[in-house]
Parts: sequence; structure tokens; C-alpha cells
Amino acid sequence: MTYDGKDMDWDEFAHWGKHISDWAADYHKTLRARPVRAQTRPGEIAAQLPPAAPETGEGMEAILSDFERIAMPGMTHWQHPRFFAYFPANAAPPSILAEMLVSSIAAQCMLWQTSPAATEIEEVMVDWLRAALGLPPEYTGVIQDSASSATLSAVLTMRERATAFTGNRAGLSGKPPLRIYCSDQVHSSIDRACWIAGVGQDNLVKLPSGGPQHAMDVGALRKAIAADRAAGHIPAGIVAITGGTGVGASDDLGAVLKVAQGENLYTHLDAAWAGAAMICPEYRAAFWPGVAGFDSIVFNPHKWLGAQFDCSVQFLADPQAQLNTLKIEPEYLKTSGERVTNFSEWTIPLGRRFRALKIWFLLRSYGLEGLRMRIRNHVNWAHELCEVLRKADGFEIVTEPMLSLFSFRCPGDDAAQQRLVDAINDDGRIYLTQGAFEGRRIIRFQVGQFETTRDDVMMAGGVIQEVWSTL
Ligand SMILES: *Cc1c(COP(=O)(O)O)cnc(C)c1O
Repeated sequence: MTYDGKDMDWDEFAHWGKHISDWAADYHKTLRARPVRAQTRPGEIAAQLPPAAPETGEGMEAILSDFERIAMPGMTHWQHPRFFAYFPANAAPPSILAEMLVSSIAAQCMLWQTSPAATEIEEVMVDWLRAALGLPPEYTGVIQDSASSATLSAVLTMRERATAFTGNRAGLSGKPPLRIYCSDQVHSSIDRACWIAGVGQDNLVKLPSGGPQHAMDVGALRKAIAADRAAGHIPAGIVAITGGTGVGASDDLGAVLKVAQGENLYTHLDAAWAGAAMICPEYRAAFWPGVAGFDSIVFNPHKWLGAQFDCSVQFLADPQAQLNTLKIEPEYLKTSGERVTNFSEWTIPLGRRFRALKIWFLLRSYGLEGLRMRIRNHVNWAHELCEVLRKADGFEIVTEPMLSLFSFRCPGDDAAQQRLVDAINDDGRIYLTQGAFEGRRIIRFQVGQFETTRDDVMMAGGVIQEVWSTL
């Protein structure tokens, strides 16, 4: 068959592009009318697709109509103002527009020369965010796809640093076990980083947490390190958290850092969710003292700050250890001698998108004050709703609000908690997820979607009690 030249041309592209941005605006304006969580059964969407790709091309009209008919009913609406599950994944309108430009230009920004603007704007955006979060000017950093990747980079750096940078070349076999320390509240991405880095789950030492902020027991940390040294193991690093996923656990960073410095351990801070709130100076006193001095800090503008997924910033006190761990320079990537930053040397993937553009658009469009106002509202409304549920008959607050996240239980056993979560999500007006704390099932509630209003949050209190009364 010969090429018939009927592929989409750029005039047709412009037509559909306008159509899709109109569609997007309508979608966002009418989101409250949709159930938040998809209401489909497993397999229902796949069953509507033909078993193989078409042999001949089809028009955009047909493709978009199937998108509406087949795909849309199977979407869970993360931009719904009554999304209170997991953590938010905000995509503010200026960030979406930046992503449209980035997709249209579709540059591979792996080296400075493969798009100098992407590298240089990324350097400046990392620095704007550093200052916005109150971190000292020594920090540089890089934008990664996800906190999982940033944490893996940090754990690999811990490994290499603790083995005098011989792990990459010689492997780990024959070496004493490397040990990494964290609390029992860390995100599963820390476990996976240890699996992938060859450290192993058994060498990720999870210390107990406690106190009002569910912080790592630093006395237990000291003891664990001493016992490991006595056993001939090699302590390599500590992963601390600000705002853990389960209940917002936050470590005493100053205390953790003191241990790390005394033991010469590399430190990584996972502030994937809560980091965004540190643009508000008043929250730093409770969560952030001691942060300056951590070797690596990750936070996700793609969660609470409003930059569309994916966008995770890793700040580094000194990038050299991570560069020594990850930099590789085959012949085809060599560039002329100019002193420029090649960000692919800082991360695991080679290819990289122009992620800094959406941060630039976001920060300029809202200003830091506009973003702070949203975060403060979310925190205040979460506290308000927590008080409503505390007073509701038989309901119990299990963990107090950490910023905009708290957890509760309805009357009844663990199974009753799950029944309530499922019934709420089947109802569709709001979306919540469950968790576990101290061996009991809990229901998490977080406020963080960009267009959420106080009314949306207060309505959730009503829906929770109403659905519970029908169980
Ligand atoms: C969301 C989250 C992660 C994982 O983030 P990704 O960017 O999806 O990898 C890690 N840690 C914490 C505390 C999180 O909230």
C-alpha cells in the first residue's frame, strides 16, 4: 500500500487543538457534577476496545467520540474539587498551558546544548523554589519525574559514598551489608529504592516513631547504628520525612542531622507532599527546623503546589556525590568544553522533558502569595472539618491534622471502616482513601485540590455522616 497523504496536517491540528482546549475548560467547569472516583468494573473499559490496532487511519472526530464514550467514564477525576483521597495531583491552568507548549515543541532536554533554555530556566526555577522554601543559597538541584526517582538517586549516592565509590564498578558482592535508617512511617518508595540499589529490604532499618508528630525515635537510631557498626555492617545513610503519606509523620530534622553528622552518614529528606507548604513561613517552625544541612531534599510541585505531574524537585547541598554516582559520558554525549550543566548527569534516565516551564508559568501566574493562600485555606479547612467529625456521634479522630491531613474512624471495627470508605466512593460525591495506623484501619482525609472551596470540605462532613447512617 502506498502512503495516501491523509495524515493530520497542521491546520487540522490547530482545529482540534482549539476544540480540545474548549473541551478542557468545559470539563473543569462542570467537574462537580461528576462522581469523583470512576464507577466502572474491572475489564469494562478494555472490553470496549477492538482486539487489534486498525490497519487504516481514522478521522479525529471518531477518535474523540470514542474517547468520550469509552475512556471518560473510566476516569477518576483528580482535579475534582471534592477529591480528598491520597494526596492531591494539582494541575493549575497555567501549568496545563505550559505543558501544551512543552508537548508541542517536544524537545529532549538531556544536555545543555539540546535546549539551553530548558537547562537554564530549570536552574533558575530550582533556585526560586529553594528561596521560596526557605532553604539556604548553597543548595542547587534538579527536576526529576517523581520523588521515587529522586529518592532512588539519593539511596544510590548513599551506597556509592559508603563504598568509596566502588559499587558501580565492582558491584556489592563480598562487601559487608550497607545499612540505611528511616522511621516506620516512610513511603514505600524508600523500600523500593533500597531493593533496586542492591541494599536489600533487610538492610533498611525501620525505627519506631512516636510523639505528636509521629517522629523517628532518634535514641533508637543511635543504638541501631552502634549495633550495626559492632556487627561489621556499613551504615550508609538516613532517610527522614516531613509529612509522611499515612498520617503526615514528620521527623525532628535537627536531631536526625546531628546523628548523621556524628556518624558521617548521607542524609535524604522525603518532603514529597508537605514540602509545598513550606512556602508559608509560619509552617516551618513545626516541620522544618534543622532542614538546612540535609544532603538531599525532595519535594513534589506536582502534588500540592499546582504544577502538573510530573515534576519533582530534588535539592542537593553539594551535587558532586550524586554526579559521581550517576554521571556517565559515552562518546555521543560529549559536548565541547564549555562549563554548562548537563542535567541528565544528575539523574537516572537520560531523556528529560522541559519540566521547568510549568513552574515558571505557575509561579508567575499566581505569585507565591497566591499559592500560599491556597495552602493556608486547605490547612484551615482540614482543621475545621476535623472538629466537625470529632463532635459527630461515635466518630473518633485517630491522628490530628498534620497540615491538611488527618485521619478518623467511624463507629465499628476495621471492616466497618472499609465499608464506609467503599460506600462513600460508590456514592461519588467525594473521594476518600483508607490507611493503617498502629495496627488499626483508619480513614484518611486531606484537603489540597486547587479549586476546592470551604463549602466542598464542609459538604464532605455531611456526606460522611449521611453515608454512614445508611450502612
Ligand atoms: C507521593 C509521595 C511519594 C512518591 O511520590 P512520586 O513522585 O509519585 O514518586 C513519596 N513520599 C511521600 C511522602 C509521598 O507523599
